[in-house]
Amino acid sequence: MGSSDLTAAAVLAAVHEFDRLGREAFLARYGYHENRWYLLKHDGREYDVATIVGAAYGYLPGGSPVEGTDPLPDKRAKEILEGLTFSVQEVRGPAWTREEIILACDLLKQNGWRALSTDDDRVIELSKTLQKLGAHPAEVRGPKYRNLNGVKRKTADLATRLPGYPGKQTRGNRLDSEVLLDFLERPEEMEEVARGILRGVENGEFEGLPDLPDDEDGDGADEGRLLLRRHLVRERNRPLRNKKINSVLREKNCLECEVCGFDFEKVYGDRGARFAECHHAVPLHVSGEVQSKLDDLVILCSNCHRMIHRGRRWLTPPELRELVLARRERAAPAV
Ligand SMILES: [Zn+2]
Ligand SMILES: [Zn+2]
Repeated sequence: MGSSDLTAAAVLAAVHEFDRLGREAFLARYGYHENRWYLLKHDGREYDVATIVGAAYGYLPGGSPVEGTDPLPDKRAKEILEGLTFSVQEVRGPAWTREEIILACDLLKQNGWRALSTDDDRVIELSKTLQKLGAHPAEVRGPKYRNLNGVKRKTADLATRLPGYPGKQTRGNRLDSEVLLDFLERPEEMEEVARGILRGVENGEFEGLPDLPDDEDGDGADEGRLLLRRHLVRERNRPLRNKKINSVLREKNCLECEVCGFDFEKVYGDRGARFAECHHAVPLHVSGEVQSKLDDLVILCSNCHRMIHRGRRWLTPPELRELVLARRERAAPAV
């Protein structure tokens, strides 16, 4: 096919056919694979560039559609369409999650806050890690998922968001700035979190974790959804919980919440007997693979447990207790 022998009229004819048949039937008719990494934008609708161009050749006088499952390279199709003044948009892969940005930030920091290049071993390493981490299901990853270029671009985007960066900020999002700020304010803690994520990826611990219920604010958590999911799964370990509950009952003869004092049995009678939640007080990204000890578990009521995990930084039980006590005092000042 020549450089620009295609016409806008032929492209529009293909677009109309696409509209008429619908995407699936259109692809089936030409035998093309779907390819959604560059999209032609026309009248508020989107079309796979290569399939439109491939089909458009069939609308030239005496022409025929390009054959093959992938009619032509995306970039070439993009050039042709833009040459005809159509607008084409590159589709980026799925957005970076909090834990992914944490790893990118950690690398950027190791590099003295300077963006890295694609031939840097550490970029290669991180790209592999992110692909293994699989923060997004395979179906939506696409062919460029967290490739070297993507990782490099992320470190560059992050670098432009540093306070006092002299140039213009590149695209990036709110989450980028948030994680970056966390790294600047609490570097050690964030490095610890990064190490916890890396360890989890290496051990394959994130595979097959149940997702969080929608109301669990995992996105806002420092540790991101993956570490929170792992934390909750481990806390629900029944034998360990039972052991803890038995030992507390033996010792105190009740299961009061260590933060607010709520006792399920007192309030709910038999129905609440032997019930309490157990929270791992040692963040698991710190303790890593170490076997949980009974002393690491804290007895909490369900409300206090949720409040501990809510928000960007998990509170420690003493921190939450302080908060609750301070509010109680304000509500009922001592006389
Ligand atoms: Zn409580
Ligand atoms: Zn917990």
